[in-house]
Amino acid sequence: MSNDAFLTRGFMLVISSPSGAGKTTLTRMLLESDARLTLSVSATTRPPRAGEIDGRDYVFLSAEAFTAQQAAGAFLEWANVFGNRYGTPRAPVEEALGDGRDMVFDVDWQGARALRASAPDDVVSVFILPPSLSALQHRLERRAKDSPEVIRERMAKAEAEISHWAEYDYVLINHDLDAAFAQLVSIVKAERLRRPRQTWLSAFVDGLYAAR
Ligand code: 5GP
Repeated sequence: MSNDAFLTRGFMLVISSPSGAGKTTLTRMLLESDARLTLSVSATTRPPRAGEIDGRDYVFLSAEAFTAQQAAGAFLEWANVFGNRYGTPRAPVEEALGDGRDMVFDVDWQGARALRASAPDDVVSVFILPPSLSALQHRLERRAKDSPEVIRERMAKAEAEISHWAEYDYVLINHDLDAAFAQLVSIVKAERLRRPRQTWLSAFVDGLYAAR
């Protein structure tokens, strides 16, 4: 392993945006570009939808199993959404961070807030803004799978999500996908250089003196 991946502490990259601002695409590009990043897979009590795969899209649990895991402290955070429970499994995150790998979380502002509260020193949060609300609406319309009524609802939800932008460490405006991606990569690079994450540094500096 290269020096900078050895004895480092990973971080939790929490990415939020309104739907249609490019978060899914940017997250996918980032994961494909960097083997040190792993996407956190949530657990849920809701049944799988067509095409969803257990362990890839979600870890699908019965209500009883979810309750047992909650009681055992297995979730970093959890929430009830429309009658189903969703939670972030703790063990994969702790294992990754301890190994110097970073975890990516694709969550809304409430999930971001809960993760920040559970691990304030490990969370790096990024909010992706659309260049304009009309651009967002065009992107939602171009997906062409929703009725005008559903698009109106999604726009209202998007505006509510955007209202939380100031809670994030970094804010990107997705004018251009490649430019926004380059900015996201820069954030990851800079965050890896933060002193508390480079846990090997004191030994390295001791070595500098010892070799004097
Ligand atoms: P869906 O059932 O459509 O996949 O997700 C419904 C909602 O659950 C979304 O708003 C999503 O952000 C939220 N959600 C998914 N996973 C988690 C999680 O691990 N924690 C929290 N708090 N919310 C989640």
